[in-house]
Amino acid sequence: MRVLLVSPRSVFPDVTPGWLRIPQMSLAILEALTPPQHDVRIVEEEVEQIPDGEWDLVGISVMTATAPRAYELARRFRARGAKVVLGGVHATVLPDEGLRYADAVVVGEAEGVWQKVVDDCRRGRLERVYVNIAPEISRVPLVRYRMGGRMFAPRVAPVVASRGCPNNCEFCCVHRVYGRRVRRLPVERVVAQVEASGAKHIIFLDDNLGVSRRYAFELFRRLRQLRVRWSAQVSVRFILDDELFRAAVRSGLVGLFVGVESVDPVALRRLKKSVPLEGYVKAIRRCRNHGVIFHASLIFGLDDDKKDVFRKTLDFVMRHRLPSVSANVLTPYPGTALFDRLMRQRRIVHKNWAYYDHTTPVYRPAGMSMEELAEGYLWFRKNLFSIGGILRRLPAQMRVNPVIYLGMNAAYHRTTRLMQEHYRRYFAWLARHQRSGA
Ligand code: SF4
Repeated sequence: MRVLLVSPRSVFPDVTPGWLRIPQMSLAILEALTPPQHDVRIVEEEVEQIPDGEWDLVGISVMTATAPRAYELARRFRARGAKVVLGGVHATVLPDEGLRYADAVVVGEAEGVWQKVVDDCRRGRLERVYVNIAPEISRVPLVRYRMGGRMFAPRVAPVVASRGCPNNCEFCCVHRVYGRRVRRLPVERVVAQVEASGAKHIIFLDDNLGVSRRYAFELFRRLRQLRVRWSAQVSVRFILDDELFRAAVRSGLVGLFVGVESVDPVALRRLKKSVPLEGYVKAIRRCRNHGVIFHASLIFGLDDDKKDVFRKTLDFVMRHRLPSVSANVLTPYPGTALFDRLMRQRRIVHKNWAYYDHTTPVYRPAGMSMEELAEGYLWFRKNLFSIGGILRRLPAQMRVNPVIYLGMNAAYHRTTRLMQEHYRRYFAWLARHQRSGA
């Protein structure tokens, strides 16, 4: 069979330069799971065109913001005779919606079920729903990466060592989709994947690497032998754990993604963050002292946020010279407890998933209007990612990684310039949508 695996594009253009982009892991896993007699083609629509041609089976990985595009593609492929199967987080939390557009939906993860999907398709016996929640992942096949060229960073590969997260943040669906029990690959399996990738820089996609100290120490011991550099997403406690953090640095750690979420102590308490703001400040300093990029994820539009949140957050980021910031608008993704609560409170304004992109307000915030949230968010980004804002933070990055710092912040600068037009179109659409009473 001819099998096409697609990650659809979103409405908001991704302007990340190719040398900073990593390939989609979900598509690489599906490719590795597909029996070898089939002819597989991967397409990330964000950076490449879907090729012309006839396909027997099309697998589409669906995130909430890409769902409308995924459904459009599904319709188009089915009209040409292909069987279409949807998977991914959005298809998992809203399978009935996906079934309106596709032949089948995978609920959960691909490992342990994708081979059956392919085989059922080949025999013309595709089922409607394949449920595969939190499967065993210790024997996942090694994946093949696309690296370098015009589209992807050279010699950088994403690797997963574990799935699941023991925490239950209200705005996140990881614990609901992947479970609160953390499933880990054997360290030797992770090492085999790192070696097979040929990459010099590994980005761990785990939701929370380092939940198990024992596993982390063993992983770091082996990574040190491989002489790779690596980055990961962790909780701030990881950095504050002196022994663990030092072991990580010795093993090649160069960057950490940390969900700070808010610089307001009250909001942090409401988010049930167990570490106070001073702990984050200490972690930022510790990372800088060890040459590790601290990438902070921040959320605007929390119920405690008032109009001054943008100024306060900018002051914090500039004062502590944060090298890299993912600034997000709170987004009630379906499948999260936040979505359920805001639905109960009748604060969700629409369900046009294309705008569920952690950039666009889709609900009524508690402490400001939707327009004020968009304006304040844009103001924050314009200041932080202005040429002046980037240059003012540069001296503190000289001992860390000034090239990556400039590359990432330049990408944020470009994205911010596109945002004004994005909001203009969005609020015009919203006004029409509300007038139509849909
Ligand atoms: S936001 Fe991070 S820590 Fe919280 S549940 Fe999701 S993955 Fe876990």
